[in-house]
Amino acid sequence: QASRLFHPENTVIKTEHSVIGDGGFALIAGPDSIESAEHVLLMGKDVQESGATLLRGGSFKPRTNPYSFQGLGEEGLKWHREAADKLGMDMVTEIMDTRDLEMIDKYTDMFQIGTRNMQNFALLKAVGKTNKPVVLKRGMSATIDDLLNASEYIAAGGNHQIILMERGIRTFDNKYTRNTFDVSAIPVLKDLTHYPVIGDPSHAAGVTKFVEPIGLAAAAAGADGLMVEIHNHPKEAFVDGKQALTPAQFDHLAKVATDIHNLV
Ligand code: PEP
Repeated sequence: QASRLFHPENTVIKTEHSVIGDGGFALIAGPDSIESAEHVLLMGKDVQESGATLLRGGSFKPRTNPYSFQGLGEEGLKWHREAADKLGMDMVTEIMDTRDLEMIDKYTDMFQIGTRNMQNFALLKAVGKTNKPVVLKRGMSATIDDLLNASEYIAAGGNHQIILMERGIRTFDNKYTRNTFDVSAIPVLKDLTHYPVIGDPSHAAGVTKFVEPIGLAAAAAGADGLMVEIHNHPKEAFVDGKQALTPAQFDHLAKVATDIHNLV
């Protein structure tokens, strides 16, 4: 169960190259979507130099518009896996459909459930039967209790390797940012549950210039790490270039956020 009442000590998630929730500051970074074998390798190299141990990237993209780029599918998964192996990083990628579980499971080290699928109970139950960690993003209109209840669907299947992620919610004012990053959710979740809590400032901000301040706020609020989108040529990114950091900008954020984490 998610509640600390039943499980007072922190859950620590361990993968081959990463530890999340042990008091350290985990960095998950990479492109929004996998674009090519060369690109994901290049981006992986850059984020690894800045301390990231998990390489993110979507091959199945949950686009609001059905005519937008939907991801490269299995070819993207292969390139992502190859890059992670070459670099000695862990791979994390989004799953949107239970029918893709077997295929994605062949490649990934960690499943990501996106904001739009936080209450896709069939999907939560399916990843709950795997033995791989699951990053569960807060639904954009979900309360903290909704998020915790969604996590129970994973745990009920026997998989307790859950990482909760705050990525911003819809509020009455999302004119200047894509979502409102709920900083307070971080200490509240840390208080209520034993699961690690990670912040995603990229999807909260929606605009590059606000990613760093939101990421630093997440670190100051006690997050166990960050997930950040990067791109070497943001204007040419297949998806969400407007919120991508360049590798140099990510390097700065990673350093300062880790310093803040170590301070608080
Ligand atoms: C993502 O991380 O690629 C993503 C689509 O995020 P979210 O589900 O938070 O929109």
